[in-house]
Amino acid sequence: MENFIYGAHMSIARGFVKAAEMTHEEYRTNAMQIFLKSPRGRHEKEISESDTAAFRSYCQSHAIRFVVAHCSYLLNFTHDMSKDIWPLDSLVSDLKNIHRLGGIGVVLHIGKYLELEAQAACRYLAVNIAEIMHRTAAENNWVILENTAGQGTEIGWQLAELEKIFKEALQQHPRIRFCFDTAHAFAAGYDLRDAKGVAQVFGEFAARFDLDRLALIHFNDSLKDLGSRVDRHANLGQGKIGKEGMLAVARFAIEHKIPMILETPEDDKGSHLPDLEVLRGWLA
Ligand SMILES: [Zn+2]
Repeated sequence: MENFIYGAHMSIARGFVKAAEMTHEEYRTNAMQIFLKSPRGRHEKEISESDTAAFRSYCQSHAIRFVVAHCSYLLNFTHDMSKDIWPLDSLVSDLKNIHRLGGIGVVLHIGKYLELEAQAACRYLAVNIAEIMHRTAAENNWVILENTAGQGTEIGWQLAELEKIFKEALQQHPRIRFCFDTAHAFAAGYDLRDAKGVAQVFGEFAARFDLDRLALIHFNDSLKDLGSRVDRHANLGQGKIGKEGMLAVARFAIEHKIPMILETPEDDKGSHLPDLEVLRGWLA
């Protein structure tokens, strides 16, 4: 299936090429997501020229068609960063490194309101994203905003709210894209349990942003209930969304050639293979 672009979030603990080898040889998939450094630390990881060249060459010769990075969980771009530019530096470095690795861009969570009002948060986001775009103009790759589950004061859990932020702060940047996480959407109250619900939700997305802005789908079932606003991913077929809904999402993704990345819990061997087999079985 030429339009079936899928894979999992891969550990880079043993290096970039090992992660690509696992994607191709063990998982038999053609897409992958990676962290470029520890997602919970401030430490930048040096990536050598020989590493990037070997990774690009492996992906090219083994038909890995989609590589994306996920940024640190610590970043929050909805406040004044003129005094603490570490988060800006961190995302800029990820955008530059994923470009060197031949990837498409970086997925990020927009942030939290903290003590700020929504409007002020939106203004800071606009300033910070403009700065990031400016510093990565040469890379010209994608800054990909992910919908959240709406835990606490997390921003971007409702499509209407995302659209408002997009229109106010981000629309002028052609490099802005979106990542739709099925588990987050379900926890945020979007009913994806059947084909009708799935069509409705993606219809709403297309009406608000245009499907061309949808860079990828995080393909996760949810351990928590519809509208719970709690972010816990479940294995395929074992969560509250269930087979019918997840299969409808997969068919939609394939129809529109949108890559799917699994971030489901790994098995006791640290593998996503069982979930990938479930997905292949559903589609067979
Ligand atoms: Zn996700």
